Amino acid sequence: MNVSELLTHLSRIFFVVLAVRTLIDFLVYRDRIRRDIALVFLCLTSGILIGLFRAITGWALPWLSQVSTVALLAQPYLLLQLVSYFRPVPRLVMRGALAAMIVSWALVLVVGSPLPAWAVLAVIAYFVMIDGYAIMAFIRGAFASVGVVRQRLRFAAAGSIFLVAALVVAGIRSALPDLAANATSAIQFMAMLSALTYYVGFAPPRWLRQAWQLTELRDYLQQIQRSGDGSSTDILRQLYQAVTRAMGTHRVAVALWDQASEQLALQASDGIPSLPDLNLEGVIRRVWREQEAQVVSRSSSLDNADRHMMKALAAEPLLVVPITTGPRALGVLVVFLEHGSLFVEDDLRLLAVFTQQTAIVLANAAMLEELHRQTEALEEKVQQRTAALQRSNDELRRFAYVASHDLREPLRTVSNYLQLIEMRYADLLDDEGHEFFAFAVGGAKRMRDLIDALLAYSRVETQVHEFVPVDCQEVVDEVCQQLQVAIDEAGATIIHEGLPQIKADKQLILQLFQNLISNALKYRGDREPEIHIDATRHKKEWRFCVRDNGIGIEAQYLERIFVIFQRLHHQTEYPGTGIGLAICKKTVELHGGRMWVESQVGEGSTFYFTIPA
Ligand code: ADP
Repeated sequence: MNVSELLTHLSRIFFVVLAVRTLIDFLVYRDRIRRDIALVFLCLTSGILIGLFRAITGWALPWLSQVSTVALLAQPYLLLQLVSYFRPVPRLVMRGALAAMIVSWALVLVVGSPLPAWAVLAVIAYFVMIDGYAIMAFIRGAFASVGVVRQRLRFAAAGSIFLVAALVVAGIRSALPDLAANATSAIQFMAMLSALTYYVGFAPPRWLRQAWQLTELRDYLQQIQRSGDGSSTDILRQLYQAVTRAMGTHRVAVALWDQASEQLALQASDGIPSLPDLNLEGVIRRVWREQEAQVVSRSSSLDNADRHMMKALAAEPLLVVPITTGPRALGVLVVFLEHGSLFVEDDLRLLAVFTQQTAIVLANAAMLEELHRQTEALEEKVQQRTAALQRSNDELRRFAYVASHDLREPLRTVSNYLQLIEMRYADLLDDEGHEFFAFAVGGAKRMRDLIDALLAYSRVETQVHEFVPVDCQEVVDEVCQQLQVAIDEAGATIIHEGLPQIKADKQLILQLFQNLISNALKYRGDREPEIHIDATRHKKEWRFCVRDNGIGIEAQYLERIFVIFQRLHHQTEYPGTGIGLAICKKTVELHGGRMWVESQVGEGSTFYFTIPA
């Protein structure tokens, strides 16, 4: 057996296998497209099949050759039929092809062979025109369509190109037999390639179709992951496009459950009537309720109206898949398959993955939306409360200022008259009277101190401050001068050097150092007081520290001492108002800094505060 014979046998086996495969496919699914695909392959294989039949049975049966010719003549018309599953074919072309096929049959059957030259030309014209139209339609479709349909049409277009090539080589061989003596093998090879690519295009094997669909699914998942917190409309639009691409149909609808109206509302659709107009609402509702995907074909137990609707939408079959993650479906995906879509059971599983993933993303989006809503509501509430708090703080501050300011005057009168009475009527009082008097004067003095401190405290916030360059070294010198008597009395040493210049309200900074230094003098222990003041630069701020060797503070009070009126000692032990440190802290915060203290009882305390550099 030489190469040419081997190829002949191989191509025969090949064509028979393809024809049988498409026939089995049709017998399993019994739909129109599979029938037409099987017919095209049977036509192409009819000659081989009849030859085989004759070889096996030994029967001559001359009419069988007529059958194979008739089958061959049907091929262009059937190919056109396949085109119509992918893109509309004008009715005129369809009818023309049908007429041409019938005329060709009549010529072959009535006139018989050999055909006169004009008849041969007419039949060739029929083949060239209709096959040519189909080939162009496949090629154009391959560029114009998307997704799985595009892949299939690419193969169909490739099949057409191989067919044309085979025909051209066959033409050259019959015109110039010497030039193309070895063309038979090439023709057989190209015919086989053509049949194979047509087969992949029209009836792609399951695994290949699934691979194309999975690519669409993968792209979809990446897309919805990328779009992150996209709105549900965006997600549904993407689902709609992806399913369109993966299933090869434009009729895709999504119905989502609307909480407010308590019904399924159609969200995305194209050329599909509204849900109530779709008599299939019952089916869709059932799928939504039972969360079980369903295939509805025209042969399903539908009433007449439903069947009519399916026909009007050219849907065969209709797939309804729940969009669900949990106990309740969010909605349903409705896919009206067109005749060319080639439904297989796996499609339902594929669509289930699509809808499950969509449901997860939709649920996430809903949760995010809810979260955003809640956050916004919370923010608004916080703003309202902050504003209210601000108002009441302002009022309180104003009140404290006005009250302390206005209290001074009557207090001064009380003090003055107390002094006057003591001067004038001292002789009239006995010892106890003097003692009572001393209490009254002491109380008035203490009250004045408290009011002054309170006034100073409220001034920190109520007064307008001017921020100017302040030399801290100079400020501390000035404070030391003011406190000279107390320093001498305590025998204290104050060490301060290299203090920086800062931008601040000079009066407030002066008060700050004054409070800290006088506290360090006041709360001294048995040792002679030593007070160290220094400052170090930490990134964008100056950190000041005022360290003493006084009595120290217990750890549990380290925060409390900065609160107004909080004191750790009795008046008789250490006199004071309990406002000094509160003023210090407020001053530091007004300058954008922080204040805290570290201490060891009996060892001393270190007060820290920061001021932006
Ligand atoms: P006052 O000194 O008028 O009581 P302050 O607000 O200045 O009020 O201080 C609050 C409290 O913090 C004081 O009563 C004292 O107990 C404690 N305190 C402040 N400075 C020192 C210090 N340098 N050493 C120990 N305790 C201190």
